[in-house]
Amino acid sequence: MPQDKYDCIIIGAASAGLTAALYLARQSAETLVISKDIGGQALLTDDIENYPGFTQISGFELMNKFQQQAAAYGAKFVYDEVTEARKLEDGSFSVKVRDQEYRSTALILAFGKTPRNLDVPGEEMFRGRGVSYCAVCDGPLYKKMPIAVVGIGDHVMQAAVYLSGLASKLYVVYKGSRINPDDELYQQLMEKENVEFLVNYSVEKIEGEMTVKTVSVKGNSKDNPESRDLEVEGLFIEMGYVARTDFVKDLVELTKNNEIITDKLGHTSQEGVFAAGDVTDIPYKQAVISAGQGSAAALSAYNYIQKKLGKTAVKSDWKSVKVEQKTTQ
Ligand SMILES: Cc1cc2nc3c(=O)[nH]c(=O)nc-3n(C[C@H](O)[C@H](O)[C@H](O)COP(=O)(O)OP(=O)(O)OC[C@H]3O[C@@H](n4cnc5c(N)ncnc54)[C@H](O)[C@@H]3O)c2cc1C
Repeated sequence: MPQDKYDCIIIGAASAGLTAALYLARQSAETLVISKDIGGQALLTDDIENYPGFTQISGFELMNKFQQQAAAYGAKFVYDEVTEARKLEDGSFSVKVRDQEYRSTALILAFGKTPRNLDVPGEEMFRGRGVSYCAVCDGPLYKKMPIAVVGIGDHVMQAAVYLSGLASKLYVVYKGSRINPDDELYQQLMEKENVEFLVNYSVEKIEGEMTVKTVSVKGNSKDNPESRDLEVEGLFIEMGYVARTDFVKDLVELTKNNEIITDKLGHTSQEGVFAAGDVTDIPYKQAVISAGQGSAAALSAYNYIQKKLGKTAVKSDWKSVKVEQKTTQ
């Protein structure tokens, strides 16, 4: 059975979704945020130095502040994964999580990006049992243990630098054919005794019992078709991030990279559906940009709701709204 109907449902609770929630809640719109977690990608860094107002802050702390502020103005939260979002005949929206359905007048899609899978046998089975997509979050679980990290570009290099300070032995399975020898991170890693690079290798399969025990790798070139079994306790997958927009592909127009197409006010191709943040086709992926887009999408969504009610639109959010401040800003 569907739950109560909200003015707006926001999917995703990170920079974009939490800012949108703050703006809508400040206009007294009934706002529900449904998200797998609070903070999204920002949780993966301990060190944000370019969010205005904070010289240095961890992603966790920054996102906590965002959430507390939105909650203080009345935004509600449900922690779950959205699997379906569709428009109903009366123009409202239905949003489904595993065993629950929620309804709203407007919908904001702010579900960002998620790590790209490796798509090899064993990945699914050992996810959370040795296979991780977040070096900063899970790295400390593997202190003084042999582990591997696989990926390409800056993603894998940054993760490897961090993991090399924890692991007894770190295999860096680099999927590209060549690493720039002047790369600063590469140079740092080359100086470490516990790091072994396998350049132009791919992971073939992941095996174990309860947890990961072996990662089988193979050389990618004809000159080096070597296969090796790495005896490790964990594998970190650092293949970059993708927009998982499959469940909204029939609702809104997407780019060929599966990003949601929006105009500068956050409108999508579907009336009543707005989008913000890394999940959209804006090329710059940054916390402050997601937050800015979140506020624009929220004001657009609010005006859409107002129009439906035959009421006046707003252009900004400058009014003072008295709430019992529960935040620790
Ligand atoms: C390691 C790292 C370091 C970074 N450092 C910086 C930095 O220093 N400065 C900076 O400005 N930016 C930084 N970024 C980028 C910044 O984190 C992102 O641009 C920002 O988090 C995007 O916010 P977002 O709200 O658009 O989406 P995301 O952060 O991707 O969050 C999406 C949210 O949606 C939820 N979600 C996803 N799918 C579903 C679903 N189906 N159902 C329910 N919920 C769902 C997720 O759980 C998450 O809460 C960094 C990113 C990474 C990975």
